[in-house]
Order: sequence, then C-alpha cells, then structure tokens
Amino acid sequence: MTPVSKRIAILGSTGSIGRQALDVIAAHEDLTVCALAAGRNAALLGEQARTFAPDCVALALEGERSLLRTELPEGTELLTGPESLTEIVWRAHPDVLLTAVVGTAGLAPTLAGIACGATLAVANKEALVAAGGLVMPAARAAGVDVLPVDSEHSAIFQCLAAGRRDEVRRVVLTASGGALRDWDPAAVADAGVDDALNHPTWDMGRKITIDSATLVNKAMEIVEAHWLFDLSADEIDVVLHGESIVHSCVEYQDGSMLAQLGRPEMTTPIAYALNYPRRRPCPGEPLDLAALGSLTFSRPTGRFADAVELGFDVIRRGGAAGAALIGANDAAVAAFCEGAIAFGDIVPLVGQTLARCEPIEEVTLEALLAAEAQARREVAARVSSRTVRTD
Ligand code: MG
Repeated sequence: MTPVSKRIAILGSTGSIGRQALDVIAAHEDLTVCALAAGRNAALLGEQARTFAPDCVALALEGERSLLRTELPEGTELLTGPESLTEIVWRAHPDVLLTAVVGTAGLAPTLAGIACGATLAVANKEALVAAGGLVMPAARAAGVDVLPVDSEHSAIFQCLAAGRRDEVRRVVLTASGGALRDWDPAAVADAGVDDALNHPTWDMGRKITIDSATLVNKAMEIVEAHWLFDLSADEIDVVLHGESIVHSCVEYQDGSMLAQLGRPEMTTPIAYALNYPRRRPCPGEPLDLAALGSLTFSRPTGRFADAVELGFDVIRRGGAAGAALIGANDAAVAAFCEGAIAFGDIVPLVGQTLARCEPIEEVTLEALLAAEAQARREVAARVSSRTVRTD
C-alpha cells in the first residue's frame, strides 16, 4: 500500500527535537516539510530551508532577518517577528504540526494548528501544562488528533491502545532522576549550572535538562498526562528509573501492567508521532535486553518527591495553576542560570509562587498568559529582594 503523503510544519526546527524530526523526515519519502520556524538561529534555519525547500519559514527574532533572506531557496517565503510562529501555521496549513518550541510561545500556534485541522504532534509540553484546558477541548471539538512526542506520554499513548479507557486503573510515569540524581542530598542544593546540565541518559535542550535535574520536568509531565489522557491526580504515579529504558506504563483494572521500552532517544517517539498510525523502520541499534542485564525502579523521596508534588498540586488547583508553574519555573531557572539563586532554591520558589496563584473566573488564553506573567514577576521580586532561601 502506498503511504499517504504528509505535509509537516515544525515549530522549533533548530532545537534538539526539531533537528531530530528533520532526520526522521529525511528518511521517509512520503513525509515532506511545508514550514519551518525558529527563534533566533537564522544560520541553521537557512541551511534547513535549503535542504527541505519548505513553502515558508518563520524567524521569531527579527534582528536576524537580513542574514536569512539571502540564504533561502527560491519560492520559500520568509515571515519574521514574534507573531510569525502563528502566522506560518495559517499560511502553510500543514497535515501535521510538530510543536517543538520551548515555553508558552507554542500556545497560540498550537491553537492555530487545531483551527487549521492539523494533527498535533506535541513536544511543546508547556502548551499543555499551561493551557491543557483550552487545547484539549479545542482539539476534541475540531476532531484533530493530539499525539504526544514526550517519550513518557508517547509510551502511555501506545500502551493505552491495548485496552479501553474505562479499564485503566492508573499510569506510571518513569523519571530518570536527572543529572544530580546520585549526588549527596546535602550537596545538591549548591550544584552549579554545568552540573545540572550533565544528564546521564538523555541528550536534550538546555532548559529541559535543568528541569530534569530539579524534577520539575516530571511535575510538568504529570500535568501533561492529566490533560492528554483525562487522568485525575490519583490515577498518575511516578517512579524513578535511572536507566530510562521503560518510558512509562499503564496499569489496567485486571492488574496487567503494560510498558513501552526503547533506547533513550527521541527519534523513536518523534517517528511514532509523525508516522502515526503506522510504525515504520527506524535507524539505530535494537534494544538489547540481555546486554542491559537489569532495570531498577524506586519511589521518589526527599527533593524528588517535593518536585513531583508540584504537578499534583497543579491538577488539584486547576484554573491557571499550570500557567503559574510554567512562569515561576522559567523565572527561577533563569535566575539560577544567572547565578542569582542556588539550585536548591528552584523548587521551593516555584512551590511558594504556585501557592499564591489566584483562581481565575474563566479559562481564556489571556487569563492564562496573565497568570504566567504574574508568576514570573513574583519570582523576580523574591529573587531581587533576596527572600528566596527557605532552609
Ligand atoms: Mg519526557
């Protein structure tokens, strides 16, 4: 059977996920690129445009515009400015929209993708964490598929195919524990930026690697699972799994637990989402269970449990709590990277800000973005007044 050709738009094409997605697309003739968008890396965006000849490219940072224009192939349109990430979705009308930008910058383009009827391949978890209450109902109403690219959620999505939704007892998200997982708890609080960036199993972007070290990434993934799969806080569990081979599990009412396993490489969930509902050959070594020997699991305790709890707290609070989590964490990580606060300050600071998040009357894009901005301001104020340390 000849596969159906898919036109794919990638937002965040110069980042880690975007580059790997282009590798996947290059390996399959029937996957084509109709649009590419990036934040500031004009040089790489130009190079990608020359290779894939999309209909249009977008660069959010206008300052680099002149650099890019001369590099584009004939027939490729250039859009620039912060709104161009949304504009390019309307312009390209993709079959599949891969959202791989970092932060809530992906939110408006995600909603545009839904309005265009595009299948969503979501790597931009912040859009779901901050605004799952907008994104998921809109996607359902429009009848578009929302396919997770996050490895844990791709695993859950795949395991959910084995049964009915009302047969699910709970899902178990696995967590690597991040770069500092083996550190003495007393030393972790004063870890440096380079320490937090030294991830043992996953090679990812800078922000998510730090979020992985704090485990705020796992808190976000709890909220992401809540929205993607309509799960309550009681139906989500987290275990530490240092090898990052079991990407997550679904437990059914009969006690059967299904897991999806694979090497810790994002090309697998990316290829799954882009080729869905088909599975196609992927390059790379097969998983060798005998060579792995053993897999380990443990319950998160101490700082791991504190960070994970933030995710459950967001679900219970509802409203704009997810947006506040994103804003507070972004600002706290930025402050850590600037040397203004210690690594150990990040999670308490995010937790304190979340606790002050006000209820909102109606879940709208404006209200959510306002809550995110408010959380950023609160963190900035605490950092500048040096009232951060809680220990
Ligand atoms: Mg993940």
